[in-house]
Order: sequence, then structure tokens, then C-alpha cells
Amino acid sequence: MSEQSAQKKYEFKRKLEQLKSKKGRGTELVSLYIPPDKQISDVVSQLKVEHGQASNIKSKVTKTNVQGALDSLLSRLKYLEEVPENGIVYFTGAVDIGANKTNMETTIIEPPQQIITYRYHCDSRFFLEPLEAMLKETKTYGLLVLDRREATIGLLVGKRIEPYRHLTSTVPGKQRKGGQSAQRFQQLRLIAINDFYKKIGEAASEIFMSVELSDLAGILIGGPSPTKEEFDSGEYLHHELEKKKAGLFDVAYTDESGLSELVNAASERLYDIDLMEEKRAMEKFFGELVSESEKAAYGEENVRKNLEIGSVKTLLISEDLRAERIVVNCSSCSYQNKYTLQLRAGELTSQESDASNNCPNCGSPIEIREKVDIVEELSNLADQMGTEVKFISTEFEEGSQLMNAFGGLAAILRFSTGI
Ligand code: ZN
Repeated sequence: MSEQSAQKKYEFKRKLEQLKSKKGRGTELVSLYIPPDKQISDVVSQLKVEHGQASNIKSKVTKTNVQGALDSLLSRLKYLEEVPENGIVYFTGAVDIGANKTNMETTIIEPPQQIITYRYHCDSRFFLEPLEAMLKETKTYGLLVLDRREATIGLLVGKRIEPYRHLTSTVPGKQRKGGQSAQRFQQLRLIAINDFYKKIGEAASEIFMSVELSDLAGILIGGPSPTKEEFDSGEYLHHELEKKKAGLFDVAYTDESGLSELVNAASERLYDIDLMEEKRAMEKFFGELVSESEKAAYGEENVRKNLEIGSVKTLLISEDLRAERIVVNCSSCSYQNKYTLQLRAGELTSQESDASNNCPNCGSPIEIREKVDIVEELSNLADQMGTEVKFISTEFEEGSQLMNAFGGLAAILRFSTGI
């Protein structure tokens, strides 16, 4: 996964977590999914119908809130000139903020994948299933099973196997016809085998190249020995694809059923490939940490200082890190302070009251001037400094150490800074 898409995925995930935590006091939170091919004018007329029907709602508060949400949506749609290419989703409603109060809030999301179905949904919770489904991994792998008689080529997209081509060879059997010299026969047979591998390589390259190269996580090759090894060492695939080879697996069938056999045989490897890049980054970090080069930093303070002076080569962020960077100002003097607030488990944003102390200089109330997700803040800083960012899951040992022992933040440095 590219760096940018890893960060976008993180932000998308956080937004969904936040939306999931919100609830209405009645059936009054509106979720509106608009697919790219939907006319905005149609949406407007449908919302007007909903507005009319909402007048039948018995509870006066709920009625007012539903109609308020619809009014807010209708006025926002006026400014939408066209539906973005993946569609757009609006979440609007009077969200319960505790102490018997609600707050009319709107969140707008341009999803990472295309919205297929138009939906208007009104409930006490926001309707998130179509977006949550987009979070699931949809990695693509090239699949190839072969022997000297036949080959089947397909793709593994997420968990789905898609067969594309079936090829058969004209390679003669081992039994030669009478009158042919053994040497001549062997020679013809090798030529035929080589031709068949070439044909497979071309067909497979065409199919695998139809996937964006950066989206192709790897190529799995299955078959009996020594056929698959021969094919592998002959480099019959496009040279860009040769680098994507992810392993050879023993498979008995080389027709369509061989493709699922291949995926089963490779399942452990597939899991490793998912984590391989993250594992490498953590190994590099630990390597620097124990060496005398002093090219490793960890913990928020050290990592932040190094980021600010541009000495960080790779920033490692735990996917489980949840914290906010807060800037506060005194309401009457020039006092300013910055600090980081770790969010407790299950807490999605800090309560404003966390910062409502008084100024240490003049005793006036302190105001929050800025509150940003720390991951967003540090990724932006990294961006400005040409620092590579890697998100690290806690699904393997070194990954959970990053979260538990290093506060979720670590860095591999370009040079020693002594910070
Ligand atoms: Zn003050």
C-alpha cells in the first residue's frame, strides 16, 4: 500500500469510529448516500418528500430535528455542483452531547471506493455499513497454476478468486514415435515446452498487468515439480512482474480448481506478505536502536523534535495510537501552551473540559485554540520534511511493542542528532 493511501485509510477509519459513537435521542440522524450517477435534482426532490412525511412524526422534538437535518442537507446540496467520482455521503442530525443537550452536526465523506446504491436512512444511529465494508482489505494477487499439459491463470481479489484463462499445450508425451531419433525427439520436446511456457508467460503478463502495478500485492505460482520451478527460473513473465513473485507452491490440479488449491496452500504466506513491509520497517528500527549509530528515536517528544528539524527518514506510527494535540491560549494575556492528550480506550475525542484550567500567569480562563488528531498533525509535519510515514499494525510482536513500549511513535533517522 502506498504511503498516501495508508494515511487516507487511517483518516477514513478514524472518521468512521467517530461517526459510530454518535447517537440521536430519537430516530433523527440522517445518512444520505449519493452515488456518482445520481442527479442532484432528484436527490433534492426526494428529500423534499421526506421533509413532508416528517410532519407526521408524533414526537415534536424528533419532528423538529428530522426536518432541521433535512433543511441543512437541502441547503448544502445547493452548493454541490456535481457528485464526486466515487459519490458523496452526508451524515446530519441532532447528536446527543450529554447533559440533556443535542448539537446539529454534519460530516461529509468522499469515500475511497464508489458508492453503488442511493440511500436515505433515518435512525437513532448513523448508517455506516456500506463505508465500513470499504475498509476491508481488497488486495489483489496474481494466480498461476501449470504443468506441461495445461495452465490456468486468475486473480485473487480480496477473498474472491477470478479465473481468467485456461491454456493447453501441444507438448508431445514422453513416448517417441518410431523412426525419430531419441536426440531429435528430446530436442523437439524441449522446444515445445519452452514455447508453452512463453505462451503462459505472455497470457499471465497481460492479465496481471491489467491490475495497477502498485495494487498487485504478489504473484503466486503453483504446480508439480519441476514444472513450476522451470517456469520460475526461466523468467517468462514481464520483468516488472518478475519482482512481484511471492512464492512457489505444490498444487495437484492445474485447472480452475487448482487456483483455490493454490490460495489455500499460500494462505500463510499471504498473511506474511500483508505484514512484510511493516515487519521490515520495525526490524530496521530495532537494528538502529541496538547499534551505536544513534539513528533511532522513540516516544512522542523525541520523535517530534527530530521531525521538526527534518532528521527523520521514516516515521513509524502505530495504527492503535489515539491522541490529540491541543493548543491553548489565555483569554486575556499572551500565555500559550501545547500538549498532547492520550485518548482513553473507546473515547473518540477529548471533552472540551479537559483544558478548562486557568492561566498560570493571570488566572483568566484558558481557551482551546486548536485540537487535532496527533496522527494527522505528525503526518503533515512529515510531509513537509520529506519523511516517509509507515503505519504499523499491532498484529505482530514488534508492532505491538511499538504501541506498548514506545508510545506508538518511533523514527528511523537520517543521521544521529543526539536528541
Ligand atoms: Zn493569562
